[in-house]
Amino acid sequence: MIQFIGVEKYYGHFHALKNINLTIERGETVVLIGPSGSGKSTLIRAINGLEPIQEGHLIVNGFDLNDPKTDIDKIRKRVGMVFQHFNLYNNKSVLENVMLAPRIVNHVPEEENEKYALELLERVGLQDKAGSMPSMLSGGQKQRVAIARSLAMKPMALLFDEPTSALDPEMIGDVLRIIQGIAKDSDLTSLIVTHEMNFAQNVANRVIFMADGEILEDSKTSDFFKKPKSARAQQFVDQVQ
Ligand code: ATP
Ligand code: MG
Repeated sequence: MIQFIGVEKYYGHFHALKNINLTIERGETVVLIGPSGSGKSTLIRAINGLEPIQEGHLIVNGFDLNDPKTDIDKIRKRVGMVFQHFNLYNNKSVLENVMLAPRIVNHVPEEENEKYALELLERVGLQDKAGSMPSMLSGGQKQRVAIARSLAMKPMALLFDEPTSALDPEMIGDVLRIIQGIAKDSDLTSLIVTHEMNFAQNVANRVIFMADGEILEDSKTSDFFKKPKSARAQQFVDQVQ
């Protein structure tokens, strides 16, 4: 479970997150949308401690990130992040990329680790690329490796920050289909920043719309796409569609 209670985030004097109150239950799939600079990445990065918050409480898996006693590494182990740029280790094979964190962080025995990594590569349609180096892959394939790598840590939540916006159009569908398959898993909580509105309609049970560091709307997906509550959200949807 992820809960924001009165969260305020500043970059210096710039007020990037304003009184964020938000609860995401285990197993939910939530899509986060909003104009450029509205604070989507900041919000998502705060959840695994990549951005410190200044006020309020951000509780992830029972730990309050704004409590200095909280061990952020414990949270990061269970909250995976998939970025726009895949950040693979380019000097390691695809299989090694997937096996690395479970080996180093969780000390998973080698045989078990490899078996699970190969299963995950199959799940993202890349079993035949296990021995390849990342430089031999297309952007869409790299992103699928990054997704497999996040899943290898058996996360309770996965955060996606515009996972398809750096991809060529013909690669986007494959990656979205994989994310959609993963998001269906009823134990996994997914929070996805995306500009793909069709995908959002298909995958999300809730849509959150942000503007200027605030949550302007938090609605059931069907309600949101029927008619957003604010003119600002309506305007945004019209623009991106
Ligand atoms: P985009 O759709 O372009 O990715 P976003 O909604 O993800 O936008 P953020 O990256 O969260 O927006 O940024 C929110 C605001 O905070 C922006 O005005 C941005 O300029 C500012 N900001 C982000 N990171 C920093 C930083 N490290 N230092 C100062 N300001 C920052
Ligand atoms: Mg962003």
